[in-house]
Order: sequence, then structure tokens, then C-alpha cells
Amino acid sequence: YEYSYKDIRTVMRDTIMLLEAQALLHSIELEAEFGEDPLWVHGVEDQLKQVFINVLKNAIEVMIDGGKILVSGVREDDQVVVRIQDFGPGIPQETMAKIGQPFYTTKDKGTGLGLMVSYKIVDNHQGRVDVQTKIGRGTTFAIILPYMVPPG
Ligand code: ADP
Ligand code: MG
Repeated sequence: YEYSYKDIRTVMRDTIMLLEAQALLHSIELEAEFGEDPLWVHGVEDQLKQVFINVLKNAIEVMIDGGKILVSGVREDDQVVVRIQDFGPGIPQETMAKIGQPFYTTKDKGTGLGLMVSYKIVDNHQGRVDVQTKIGRGTTFAIILPYMVPPG
């Protein structure tokens, strides 16, 4: 695989552009906030993009009444944190224990593979995924990756 140093803001912008039409179709606005400074990570761009696509798609799919999805990227010490926050139904406790398991889905036409693949990719990048959820309020997926400045 092709590892390279990437400003994750670029990958996030690409992801948002890719899914913007689908979001607008459901009256969803994707609000992005990246800040001024580059958010350097070392990784495989296509894989990281796949993670953002999977998580953002899930967010779009739960926002059945439309509204806003917040996408943000910040540096926190030696980490880059990308947060995707929806205002959907939230994830019940018993479901929380199962998401990310292969083929676990609560959707009629779901595959239950998106999060499994995403967790695996993030893990391969020495990162982790943190999920905060509140029933009736929504869910925030935080994708946390090591901050790695290109050498030289
Ligand atoms: P799929 O989208 O095909 O169901 P995923 O692995 O992407 O598979 O997601 C697994 C399950 O996790 C979903 O079916 C859903 O129950 C839950 N889930 C994921 N993201 C969210 C979210 N933002 N809000 C509520 N539930 C979610
Ligand atoms: Mg999915």
C-alpha cells in the first residue's frame, strides 16, 4: 500500500464533495470546520477516504428528517481528530456493543460491513475510533489518528 503524508483536510473535503449531492437530496447540510493549520497524518489516502465515506454515509442515512451534519478536524496534541456529528436517533446500548462486528446491521438493505472495514483501517493506521451517542440526540464518531508531520 502507498503510505504518504497527507493533510487530512484535503481528504475530508474530497469526501464531503463526494457525498454532498446525496445529502442535499435528503435536505441535509454538511457543515465543515477544519481550521487554518494543516492536519498531517501518515496513511493510505484511499483507505482513509473510505473511512470518512462510511461514517458520513451512516450519518446521512439516519438523518431522515434532514438537518445538519457537522464535520470537523482538529489537532489535539499529537493526534488529529476528525469528528462526524449527526443529530439522528442515537445508538441504543445493546446496538453499541455490536456495531463494527461483521454483517451487523439494523438496516433493511445494510451490509453491516462499513464500520468493520473502517475500524480495521483506522487500527492499521495506529488510530482509534471513539463513539459518543445519546438517544434522541444523535451520535458523534471521532476518528483519531497520529499527527505526523512530513520530514524535511
Ligand atoms: P450498515 O450501514 O450497512 O448497516 P455499518 O457497519 O456502516 O453497516 O453500520 C452498522 C450499524 O451501526 C448500522 O446498521 C446502525 O445500526 C449503526 N450505526 C452506524 N452509524 C450510526 C449512526 N450515525 N447513527 C445511528 N446508528 C448508526
Ligand atoms: Mg454503513
